[in-house]
Amino acid sequence: MKPRSRRPIFVFVLPHIARSPRDLLAWFDARLRDLPWRRDADPYRVWVSEVMLQQTRVETVIPRYERWLERFPTVEDLAAAEVDEVLAEWEGLGYYSRARNLHAAARVVRDSLGGAIPGTARELRDLPGVGEYTAGAVASIAFDRPEPAIDTNARRVLSRLFDLETPSPARLRAVAAELIPNDRPGDFNQALMELGATVCSLRSPRCNECPLADGCLARARGTVAERPGDSARPPVPEFEVGVAVALSSEGRVLLVRRAERGMLGGLWQFPARVTEESESPLEAAVEALRPLAPEASPARALAVVRHAYSHRRHFYHAFLFRAQTEPEPDPEVLAVAGWTAAVWEPPEVSGRGLPAAQRRIARALAAALPC
Ligand code: SF4
Repeated sequence: MKPRSRRPIFVFVLPHIARSPRDLLAWFDARLRDLPWRRDADPYRVWVSEVMLQQTRVETVIPRYERWLERFPTVEDLAAAEVDEVLAEWEGLGYYSRARNLHAAARVVRDSLGGAIPGTARELRDLPGVGEYTAGAVASIAFDRPEPAIDTNARRVLSRLFDLETPSPARLRAVAAELIPNDRPGDFNQALMELGATVCSLRSPRCNECPLADGCLARARGTVAERPGDSARPPVPEFEVGVAVALSSEGRVLLVRRAERGMLGGLWQFPARVTEESESPLEAAVEALRPLAPEASPARALAVVRHAYSHRRHFYHAFLFRAQTEPEPDPEVLAVAGWTAAVWEPPEVSGRGLPAAQRRIARALAAALPC
């Protein structure tokens, strides 16, 4: 037997369900923006755009998407590239595991699938890094499959439309499947996300402009501000990080490579360490550098760079160190420190993929060096 609280959903919404997709698509058509990834439904292009758009603003993605397609026009071109090239091309977009997974998946498509990107959500999910959302988006937009694609914005709209307090992913897919039309599933999914991003916002939804207002159960019940019920964000923790920019007498700087797995995996950076309790950022920088270049000594403060990640905020305190030699760190020493490789590079560090905050430190170094 269904819980009593669910019955009114269908009593209220059913008269509007048949009309909702049509109303939503008409709203979407009237405000359709000319975005480069909407110009054709090539599966590779759709896939790249969907991965780039996760956690990144449309305005940021547009030029990067176009540049990416010039550099890697097909899935075969991407598969043929080295991972360092791919990470360097992704630089500045953040969440670098997306780039590594895209590259790994392109190789699976080339090596195991004859170069053809699969057309169903179930098959797409077998590719590295492809989750429910990306699989649904690519299947619906590129292959016209009626598969839901539910990002944070679509989740908020559906939670309000059906007045769901803390819906599970399976329940959301079930209610989305009720609405998604067979003829324009990709447009419907994009419309739902766009509605959440622009009208049904978290803090101030504009229900009087909403094409789904007549069938919105949360609006009728006065629960809009509480749906979904788990959207309050916990406070973001902050960390102080000491960064050692070691400059040798040959004019090169020491870079280390992060482990493949985890945050910013596979990228290069200056040796650094999060401060421990009652440790200053300079002390942390000295500790980070000591096993790699023991005779280097701190010269001066270089820059403080603040960077917000999705789940944490870092304050990078960068210090310039002078090193007379360019020691090659022992692999075991590197591993103990949590790095997978180290190189001495010209200070422009142009050929390496660096996270955005590290790139800003490199720019501060360039500005501090005599021409
Ligand atoms: S009526 Fe309001 S709460 Fe309901 S879907 Fe539209 S904008 Fe969101």
